[in-house]
Amino acid sequence: MNRAIFLDKDGTLVEDVPYNVDPARLKLMPGALEGLTQWQRAGYKLVVISNQSGVARGIFPEDALAGVKSRLERLLAEGGAALAGFYYCPHLPEGTVPAYAVDCECRKPAPGLLFQAARDLDINLAASWFVGDILNDVEAGNRAGCRTVLLDNGHETEWVQGAFRRPYFVAADLNEAAFLITSEADRANGRPDMLKLVERES
Ligand SMILES: [Mg+2]
Ligand SMILES: [Zn+2]
Repeated sequence: MNRAIFLDKDGTLVEDVPYNVDPARLKLMPGALEGLTQWQRAGYKLVVISNQSGVARGIFPEDALAGVKSRLERLLAEGGAALAGFYYCPHLPEGTVPAYAVDCECRKPAPGLLFQAARDLDINLAASWFVGDILNDVEAGNRAGCRTVLLDNGHETEWVQGAFRRPYFVAADLNEAAFLITSEADRANGRPDMLKLVERES
């Protein structure tokens, strides 16, 4: 089975421009490529998990997301990173487009998209991580049985607490998140050089 890093898109992987589907305005977050390439070297699959309620709100059509996906894949490819999957939820119960104005299992903090990706890509959720910039990401990851990282970059403003809303790590950006996750895996595997390094530092 595969291990994955599930990544929120807006405010985590790319700069948060609300409801943007203009490929030209996509910009990777600082540290994103460094983090993604670290994870790839460590053998993780990279999978985007995104809420796109702009579809249900009638702000853009669902097929506009294809352009976002391909531009994102190009930006990542320029830095040597590749996505194994790109999953989004187009729904919102209070949306204005009837086909999408539904209560679903895939809008974060629900974990539906992670379960879907795990089935499609043969992912071991317990060996995988979810990294996002708000606690709804953390909750979706924890509900799916992953460990989680919250990027503390100012995007979470409500801090609603709950049983599934505690991250395993807090990191400044994806580069630091990747360092924390790969170090944790090395510790768990008892890799001697890393153990020595940790002992020296503590
Ligand atoms: Mg986000
Ligand atoms: Zn949904």
